[in-house]
Amino acid sequence: MKRIAFLTSGGDSPGMNACIRAIVKNCLHQDIQPVGIRDGFNGIMHGDFWEMTYDDVNNIIQSGGTILGTARSEDFKDAEKRKKGLTYLLKNKIDALIVIGGDGSFAGANAISNEIGIPVIGVPATIDNDIYGTDQTVGFDTALNTVVEAVDKIRDTASSHKRIFFVEVMGRDSGYLALKSAVASGAEMVLIPEEETNIEKLAIQLKNQNQGKRGSIVIVAEGDDAGGSMDIIGKVKPHMEDFDLRATVLGHIQRGGRPSAYDRILATTMGAEAVDILIAGKKNVMVGHVAGKIKYVDLIQGIKLHALPDKGKLDLLDKLRTKNSSK
Ligand code: ATP
Repeated sequence: MKRIAFLTSGGDSPGMNACIRAIVKNCLHQDIQPVGIRDGFNGIMHGDFWEMTYDDVNNIIQSGGTILGTARSEDFKDAEKRKKGLTYLLKNKIDALIVIGGDGSFAGANAISNEIGIPVIGVPATIDNDIYGTDQTVGFDTALNTVVEAVDKIRDTASSHKRIFFVEVMGRDSGYLALKSAVASGAEMVLIPEEETNIEKLAIQLKNQNQGKRGSIVIVAEGDDAGGSMDIIGKVKPHMEDFDLRATVLGHIQRGGRPSAYDRILATTMGAEAVDILIAGKKNVMVGHVAGKIKYVDLIQGIKLHALPDKGKLDLLDKLRTKNSSK
């Protein structure tokens, strides 16, 4: 193992830089040349490779985003178009590849391994936390804290003005971030893609609990079957004419910012581990973190299965919801 390449792919998530840093440092520590690839799989398609040094990863552990850049590459999904890109990996004498991203990115990594036979390792990094085989993905903890901080601020205005806020958080296919942030921010309700939304029932519940109560928070995952927060307000409003309903879309602030200590530690542990297991001869696995310990999951299994949010948390929210509030 002389040259290990790595890339960040899909949506960026806080902690990706900490992971890059750990890979570079652990490679150099073991006399391996770390080779960063810029802009996800696009960098493979264009041969955009970067032989990295200690200096390149100084002072990056605390920054969000990714110094390598990330991208979604439609061309890379096409086996014919991919062929030319893969020749760059061969020309650059890459012995193995670490892909930091979500399950889509792992599918790309798997294709590379099938087509040119190099070992690949996945490091789960996405704010969605929807990856099978790990308790948490790199970036989820930071995004969760960003959402909770924002909701705390929105709650101030919600209670001052007696408003019901529908706060939309990221999660096209996964309600993980929505559900956890609802519990952590004390939201009255949460709408997630994994549960069907019944608008009439929602309106009745909101009306009941807002009798005299000064404002409520409903967290909405962007991929909810009833739509985003604006759509939902449009549907609920006819049932709640007398209430002041407001939408807030948190958007991309959820992806950025300094990674939390938890994400830095997770990313550093997983990045260093990815290098160690390549040297030990492991291939085509994802590095997971389960119950405080490193675990490996077959990459194909990780791609096929999704982590689902704990629906017990919905019952928890039910139990905590104010019943016929008079305050
Ligand atoms: P996130 O969910 O956080 O955005 P992700 O890794 O799941 O992360 P995707 O957009 O699904 O993000 O995938 C990232 C990239 O991986 C795609 O743009 C594409 O280049 C590559 N990719 C995805 N699926 C495949 C596939 N089946 N074959 C080859 N490449 C793929």
